[in-house]
Amino acid sequence: MIISMKLHATREEIDDVRKQVEHFGYKVHSIEGEERVVIGVVGVGDVTACMESVEALPQVEKVVRISAPYKFVSREFRKEKTRIRVNGTEIGGDEFVVMAGPCSVESEKQIMQAAEGVAKAGAKMLRGGAFKPRTSPYDFQGMEEEGLKLLQKAKKATGLAIITEVMSDRDVDLVAKYADVMQVGARNMQNFMLLKALGKCGRPVLLKRGLSSTVKELLMSAEYITAHGNSEVLLCERGIRTFETVTRNTCDITAIPALNELTHLPVILDPSHATGRRSLVPALSRAGVAIGADGLIVEVHPAPEKAISDGAQSLDLAQFQKMMKDLEPYVRLWNESRKTQALAAAAGL
Ligand code: PEP
Ligand code: MN
Repeated sequence: MIISMKLHATREEIDDVRKQVEHFGYKVHSIEGEERVVIGVVGVGDVTACMESVEALPQVEKVVRISAPYKFVSREFRKEKTRIRVNGTEIGGDEFVVMAGPCSVESEKQIMQAAEGVAKAGAKMLRGGAFKPRTSPYDFQGMEEEGLKLLQKAKKATGLAIITEVMSDRDVDLVAKYADVMQVGARNMQNFMLLKALGKCGRPVLLKRGLSSTVKELLMSAEYITAHGNSEVLLCERGIRTFETVTRNTCDITAIPALNELTHLPVILDPSHATGRRSLVPALSRAGVAIGADGLIVEVHPAPEKAISDGAQSLDLAQFQKMMKDLEPYVRLWNESRKTQALAAAAGL
């Protein structure tokens, strides 16, 4: 159950709601919106009686019963898609947004060339890991703060927003100083300490689906961030582990429309980690546009053969430019389809 308070409800009025809810055996989890307080209620009890009694309280605007275990991120809670503004670009709205850049920040020259190249091709955000989750402890672990500073420099030069990974709750403040969007890697999707800390980071979060996680588990992890105070979460399908070995992972492409049914959060496709092979990235990207993703996050490197990580799945700048050009007709259809959906929603269909 979610309770929306009227604008400017006082502390006492919120406490009255809390007491009433607890009286029915439920637990309150309150999040404070900018203008109005929204209270999440969890537990087991007599839902109908509790709802009726809370609805009768002054300053309660609306009570919504939500059957999904994820509450704040469910479509039941919010019908309209969440739009997230990042550095002048809106994700989840009327624009298909492409984020691109290398797997890791490796040097000033590499990140500047990548940034200039992807900006020229039409990307709106620059990706690049400064903290890298590597399977082997002997592999390159990232440039850490020095890498974050290089990303900042690339942002100054190109105007691109920065998306970069945070691996630990201890690094949240440091990464938030430089990042416009905080990325949670697949291996950290259920790092609950990190998710809780990101609830308070003041930046949008891109949450990648875990290697062996279900769509429902992904939504529960998004719920952690939201329940701890941050409703700006982007979800990312990046392929899951199956018995197939031709591709690095298996892209669960259906997860995209499934997520669009289950949640109001924007959904991003990562065709690079989903395939592991650069030759497959353009085709999967087209599929992502066609199936209704809100954007892509693509690995691009000025010299993929020299990349320290994920070279095999990285496009070079010319390949990325071509891919963006080839995506144009698909993006035009995407725009048409968004307009049709908006008209249908306005007509209550
Ligand atoms: C990455 O984006 O470079 C990365 C490590 O991705 P994932 O967490 O999806 O494996
Ligand atoms: Mn990578």
